[in-house]
Amino acid sequence: MPLLSQIKFISNSFIDIIYPNNCVICDTHLLHNENYLCLTCSYDLPYINQSKHTIESLQKLFWGRVNVEKVYALLNYQKGNQTQRILHLLKYKDKTKLAGHFGEKLGYTIKNKASFDFLIPVPLHPKKLKIRGYNQSTVIARGIQKILAVKINEQVLRRNSFNKSQTNFSKFDRWGNVNSIFSVVKPKLLINKHILLIDDVLTTGATIEACVQEILKVRGCKVSVAVLAARV
Ligand SMILES: [Zn+2]
Repeated sequence: MPLLSQIKFISNSFIDIIYPNNCVICDTHLLHNENYLCLTCSYDLPYINQSKHTIESLQKLFWGRVNVEKVYALLNYQKGNQTQRILHLLKYKDKTKLAGHFGEKLGYTIKNKASFDFLIPVPLHPKKLKIRGYNQSTVIARGIQKILAVKINEQVLRRNSFNKSQTNFSKFDRWGNVNSIFSVVKPKLLINKHILLIDDVLTTGATIEACVQEILKVRGCKVSVAVLAARV
């Protein structure tokens, strides 16, 4: 082994002793060439096959609701599977590097398939953002941005504050309530643009539907959706 590699190997080993680097899923010690996940857990992840059929089945979720150009997703989400574990880590354990890592992987599945004008992460409620300290969808968007080189825009879509009447579910049905959560500010910026809307997970599609509904009020605007995980 050349001297420089030896020094690097020794210093890496030393860093490992001070800051042990373990797999986020099974907690085994990571080897030098492994990032966040050990090789076994990485192979075991339920990646969604990117076939035309699968992508179409995700789009069908929005049929008769809102017009979505394309839906892109990386991991299959099922209750209790490893994807659920990963989503939990991204939301509550401040694993922003992990979110960025998966964002990049998602970016590679989208690359060369379409062109976008803006990446828009689904915004968090401002109070929630303050508590969590970061928006996991923004971190995923940054990973995607590394691969697609498209601007992230966090100014145009806003999650409105809840007021008392809106949180009263007895007065509003579930759909009506969700629909009133988002609004577009500075709509001029979105005229004739193709937006890639980004969220961590797609289940019922209610949140994304509410965002898309608002964005599509802008003339000539098109929306595609990218999520880290979806039920397929
Ligand atoms: Zn592992």
